[in-house]
Amino acid sequence: SLQHPKPYSIACIPADGIGPEVIAAGVQVLKTLSAASGSFQLSFTDYDWSSETYKKTGQYIPAGGLDSLKAHDAILFGAVGAPDVPDHLSLWGLRLAICQPFQQYANVRPTRILRGTESPLRKAAPGDLDWVIVRENSEGEYAGQGGRSHRGRAWETATEVSIFTRAAVERVMRFAFETARGRPRKTLTYVTKSNAQRNGMVMWDEIALEVAREFPDVKVDKMLVDAMTCRMVLQPQSLDTIVATNLHADILSDLAAALAGSIGIAPTSNLDPTREHPSMFEPIHGSAFDITGKGVANPVGTFWTAAEMLRWLGEEEAADKLMECIEKVCEKKIVTRDLGGEATTKQVTSAVCEEIKQAY
Ligand code: ATP
Ligand code: MG
Repeated sequence: SLQHPKPYSIACIPADGIGPEVIAAGVQVLKTLSAASGSFQLSFTDYDWSSETYKKTGQYIPAGGLDSLKAHDAILFGAVGAPDVPDHLSLWGLRLAICQPFQQYANVRPTRILRGTESPLRKAAPGDLDWVIVRENSEGEYAGQGGRSHRGRAWETATEVSIFTRAAVERVMRFAFETARGRPRKTLTYVTKSNAQRNGMVMWDEIALEVAREFPDVKVDKMLVDAMTCRMVLQPQSLDTIVATNLHADILSDLAAALAGSIGIAPTSNLDPTREHPSMFEPIHGSAFDITGKGVANPVGTFWTAAEMLRWLGEEEAADKLMECIEKVCEKKIVTRDLGGEATTKQVTSAVCEEIKQAY
């Protein structure tokens, strides 16, 4: 073609457990896609930051590490967490150490039942469950505020303080309304617990209704988080875009992933909607040490993640093609054990690469 392929620079942080296996699969699929499409070009830079480096050096990210990440267009992240490192250390040491300074305040989790896969919900078919969960990703219950006193004593106390600021709630709410507006059903469900928590949650409710006035074309729907879990199971068709706090959306999105068939499928985007910093894309699942090194990790979560990354970079067409190819492979039942199949990570990856070559 006369046009030069558009270049993008991608930072890869495979990290722990099955992270390196699924990221290798994702990179292979992305390279196949860029070669087949001819319209964009990807260069990958590996960062070997992991719990292994942490155990050797006492830190996940070396000095100057964040600055070198800033040079990339996007970050593709595997999973962090190791059996011999407390989870709160690995999470704060690597994932949140990137999300927070890069102001990736919107965590976006699309979930749907892919063709060829099955939901544990008896009557749900593809199309009955098609959601995007927007999670506030910068403060709330995970603000890291609080403390402990009188350690080990019978009267020991600990506080875990939630921080909600108008600025942060407004920006994520606006992002959620825009996301809802971009989807066919134009419906946003905002989820809080404002019957029991009368400060931050009531402010969330108020801000939701204020921002709603800027989006008269979007239908607004309010839910309490406890009732929301029931509605997700009993009436999945009634939901579309969902916005909730850091903690609530964390829990709801795991439920969503399970309802859609497997935790091995779903993607997550940690977005800085201002585009001042690179955004970070990762499969929703963790490091899964129980299957690490066995070659059976489901790479579909990383493929879908790659599609979301391409969408964010502006490569909509390639993203749509990739999703089509993933679903075709699922329909052929070339799937890993978590989806009831027998295929290995490599077999699923090759099958998706073959579909991509045929799609162009
Ligand atoms: P972490 O602490 O890093 O979140 P975890 O073990 O608590 O790790 P996951 O890693 O998400 O949580 O694993 C939960 C379960 O789901 C495990 O049994 C794991 O084997 C399975 N699982 C997770 N990801 C995949 C995948 N990509 N393919 C197949 N099974 C997976
Ligand atoms: Mg876990």
